[in-house]
Amino acid sequence: MTARRIAQPGRKPGSPELLPRRAVREFTHTPSRIAMPLPNFKRAYPDNRPLPETGLWFAINQHGIIVFANEDELHLPSGTSHLPGVERSPSAILLGEVNQVACLACTVPDDIALPKGYRALGLRDLYGRLEDTLYVVAGYATQMLHWQRTSNYCANCSAPLMPIPNEWGKRCPRCSFTAYPPVNPCTITLVYDEDRILMTHKRGWGPRYGLVAGFVEPGETLEQSVELEIMEETGVEVADIRYWRSQPWPFPHQLMCGFYARYTSGDIVIDHDELDDARWFTADDIRNGRPALPAPLSIARRLIDDWLASRFPAAGP
Ligand SMILES: [Zn+2]
Repeated sequence: MTARRIAQPGRKPGSPELLPRRAVREFTHTPSRIAMPLPNFKRAYPDNRPLPETGLWFAINQHGIIVFANEDELHLPSGTSHLPGVERSPSAILLGEVNQVACLACTVPDDIALPKGYRALGLRDLYGRLEDTLYVVAGYATQMLHWQRTSNYCANCSAPLMPIPNEWGKRCPRCSFTAYPPVNPCTITLVYDEDRILMTHKRGWGPRYGLVAGFVEPGETLEQSVELEIMEETGVEVADIRYWRSQPWPFPHQLMCGFYARYTSGDIVIDHDELDDARWFTADDIRNGRPALPAPLSIARRLIDDWLASRFPAAGP
């Protein structure tokens, strides 16, 4: 995923002169209904009440989220007594509740020895091992603790920020600057052309290929971001840009907005500052295991699975 650096003067995304000249293909992708986990999670906001005595703890140190894990089970600590030091943490916050069970989060000092059986696992390592809703809350916990840790001082005048009652926002008592937990929108797009899709590769990804993705620039619509990111990274033009679904991506604050776009013209020309390869793969390629795909937790993978399901509705992804 990239932040764009190259201005394209005079180029107006979506303007009539950029519309494809070749005939519109008959095939149009019809999104199916690949499931995305929807959190059964009731949010809480800061108030003056003491934190609940019991609940699930999303306790985080520099290595990840602390869980009890062995070969047979993996679960979150359900009480402060399980984790010495947690109850003293000044960073503890109430995130909300799942099925009336409080979800709390805190940062754990790295010098605290974890009790037997407990260890810290990164979010990616927890995928599929924590129940879906708790996994989403774990991502939220990491975002909110990151926010709490990095929002102590005013970005305008450097004075210490003060909490705004009943919100996660903070206000500067000196200059009234306000700050809120950030959400950075990004677009990620599956570009299709009949029976093939455009996939990209970056250095360090090993055999895995992904989809074109990038941060939305200030002043830009999501659709413009899709069109320009694809053009700048791969040199191809697209039409029929259609929103699919979104996914919080807490590394640390992205909101991935998934799109489909139909290829219209252009040969692949790679931006080598961003990618080391981009190429077309057919549905048969992918179903036969080529290339390696993004992790199942990612919206990139879900876009691909959804597209495959639309090509092979009887077999599914
Ligand atoms: Zn200030």
